[in-house]
Amino acid sequence: CGIVGYVGPNTPSERPLEIALAGLARLEYRGYDSAGVALATPDGIVSRKKAGKLDNLREVLAADPLPESTAAIGHTRWATHGAPSDVNAHPHLAYDGKLAVIHNGIIENYAELRAELVTAGIALTSDTDTEVTAHLLARAYEMTGDLTDAMRAVTVRLRGAFTLLAIHEDAPGVIVAARRNSPLVLGLGEGENFLGSDAAAFISATRTAVEMGQDQIATVSADAVRIIDADGNEVTGRQYTVDWDA
Ligand code: GLU
Repeated sequence: CGIVGYVGPNTPSERPLEIALAGLARLEYRGYDSAGVALATPDGIVSRKKAGKLDNLREVLAADPLPESTAAIGHTRWATHGAPSDVNAHPHLAYDGKLAVIHNGIIENYAELRAELVTAGIALTSDTDTEVTAHLLARAYEMTGDLTDAMRAVTVRLRGAFTLLAIHEDAPGVIVAARRNSPLVLGLGEGENFLGSDAAAFISATRTAVEMGQDQIATVSADAVRIIDADGNEVTGRQYTVDWDA
């Protein structure tokens, strides 16, 4: 299972999708059963996902191409809750279609969160533990209007292990990420920034990396990376140079 994120300049291009697919290919060694991507475009969030190898996703993209974008998130899944299938593959979109989430790990209290969403009239479409996070984020965003605040509000409710990346159509130049008991590294570029389960995801583009601490939340845009802790206080991530070859 692996996670990739990329945020580039305001002008949409093919690069976010290319970076996401290249990053997923370099994370293949981690093992996976499905793959998917979501892109932030001027016309909203778009997504493709497919069970099986990355080549299956590439075939879907060739048959049904995605538009140019400003940010991308990519995922390879190692199923823990719900069979390896197209519908259970990540990204998961929220009920409003405005927000997409990818997740590595296990949300231990997903059953009670799921019950809460069902009571609120939200129809879940997959069997994953992950999908609850998409809907919870969308609901929190409706109240706060800020994706970072929404992520912080949701992660305090989650138990278990997660690396979570989210994009929202209202902020097509931003990825918000959180981690607990699951890996995430940031990569700093020139006018573009990267996220990955490990630095292999972005090493061909930049070797300047930033560690993410436990229970921290990163708000990543093309020219800025802001990290806060679970209390909302700004923290400085340890910056280092990746000195191995991919
Ligand atoms: N628990 C999630 C699922 O089964 C994420 C698995 C992973 O880490 O890839 O979909």
